Amino acid sequence: MVKDNRITELCPNIFLIRGEDTSSHSYLIRGDYKNLLIDSGVDKNFSRLQKFLLTLGLKVRDIDIVINTHEHFDHIGANRYFQDYALIAAHRFAATKITVEDRYVTMYKSGDINEPSLNVHLWLENRFCFDLGNYRLEVVHTPGHSSGSICIYEFTRKILFTGDTLFAGGTLSYIGESGSVGDYISSISVLETRRINELYPGHGEISKTPEEDMKRAILNARALLRDEEGVEVTHFQEAP
Ligand SMILES: [Zn+2]
Repeated sequence: MVKDNRITELCPNIFLIRGEDTSSHSYLIRGDYKNLLIDSGVDKNFSRLQKFLLTLGLKVRDIDIVINTHEHFDHIGANRYFQDYALIAAHRFAATKITVEDRYVTMYKSGDINEPSLNVHLWLENRFCFDLGNYRLEVVHTPGHSSGSICIYEFTRKILFTGDTLFAGGTLSYIGESGSVGDYISSISVLETRRINELYPGHGEISKTPEEDMKRAILNARALLRDEEGVEVTHFQEAP
């Protein structure tokens, strides 16, 4: 039993590791076959993440796969500490930005002059699956917040890991440089056709009311298109 309120076991062997400041959360899934981490957080968050993984009995080299939900710095920043051991996976539209160091889109900058290039080993497509034995995860391409945004659907418990695509309460995230409000509405409409019990987002709280959140997110996005005032938009993407 882990006694640290920054780490929560949400389901058996699925852990939320909370991000600090602008860093995204990370989700650790201890699979029967492989250990998988969803998002690595900001670069400077790494030592904290490493400590939390150790609390869960894992070293960095015990992580077999890191999936990035999209190409923004606060989700990919600590990839460089994992990429020599783990397979790094991202949607191919995110992989293009990460591997050519398109910092206009990713906003990634470690501040380290010896900074290694970031690698993406698995360029994902919609419906790509990861079979971890106890959990099976499906990639759902959900462009909108950015072009390379994905959600990850877990079949058994019907959980959706949403990155910055969906937050509790349907609050919108900033639409990034590679994003589109039109694509966003289309992506959420596709998600609405799935049975989802819980949302595990990249920031903020988890949600047990996904249907209401998705409806609210679409209304907010439509209001944003009409340039209405009072639409709540979060900005997790401020440059570090
Ligand atoms: Zn983002």
